[in-house]
Amino acid sequence: MSLVTTKEMFAKAYEGHYSIGAFNVDDIDIMQGVLDGAASVNAPVIIAVSEGAYKFMRPDFVVAAARAAAENYDIPVALHLDHGKDMGIIKNCVDIGFTSVMIDASAYDFEENIRITKEVVEYAHAKGVVVESELGAIAGIEDDIVVDDKYGQFTHPDDAVEFVKRTGIDSLAIAIGTAHGAYKFKPGQKPQLRFDILEEIQERLPGFPLVLHGASSVPQDRLEIFNQYGGQLPAAIGIPTDMLREASEKAVCKINVGTDIRVCYFGEIRRQMALKPEKFDGRSFLEPARNAVAEMVAKRITEVFGSNDKA
Ligand SMILES: [Zn+2]
Repeated sequence: MSLVTTKEMFAKAYEGHYSIGAFNVDDIDIMQGVLDGAASVNAPVIIAVSEGAYKFMRPDFVVAAARAAAENYDIPVALHLDHGKDMGIIKNCVDIGFTSVMIDASAYDFEENIRITKEVVEYAHAKGVVVESELGAIAGIEDDIVVDDKYGQFTHPDDAVEFVKRTGIDSLAIAIGTAHGAYKFKPGQKPQLRFDILEEIQERLPGFPLVLHGASSVPQDRLEIFNQYGGQLPAAIGIPTDMLREASEKAVCKINVGTDIRVCYFGEIRRQMALKPEKFDGRSFLEPARNAVAEMVAKRITEVFGSNDKA
């Protein structure tokens, strides 16, 4: 198959009450791990590339690798720019073959966010590329939550409805209590997702695909390996998988996973290098790491997202 947009994936995920995993990749090796994992459970998948990864991996290589992957695996594969902020990068992604882009203008005020998002939608839609945008603040652990009404800093349903109507976007990332990074919640802190807000947005925007960012679960066994072999990530917990599953059954059609991939891949590399000090060929470290990513991706898809056997 060639690369596809997320349109059909999301329509089916919405109807079928599951979600599609969007996995952040930092290099082509990780990309292959993600695809191996998704293909092993016959799941459609989104390859997510941040602006940093786009620069590091080099744009043309990213697209060439993703296209080759789509042709080599018998599952739908979308190539997505994650958190696009630079208009030049976003437009270039549209031009060179990404099938989906995210414009993140959530740091601006509402009207400016709409203006910038509309510019991206016009450019992308003209070339058959779909657009995700973000509304509301997706917190980090240190952010103080100032609650001025029941919606607090989360995405207000009124805003979501107006934003979607006025911008013409294809999917919307909402803030309901997830957080970016490895330290989402301190041990002892109880993660809560605001399902009441999610349901209200879903009611007001029936059929419209929603997206959760900052939704890694930080698998403790993988965090342990990372730290056991010299890593220094503080104890942290992510979003409990049962909450992600519940969100998947509702209007959430795409769940982003970044932290889990990194903890898994680089933890395994640390372990392999420690266990095999006599080795110096890259494959002896990278192959188990790539396989660890594939295993984690397959597990996440079958146990949480429910997109297995939906290719
Ligand atoms: Zn994000």
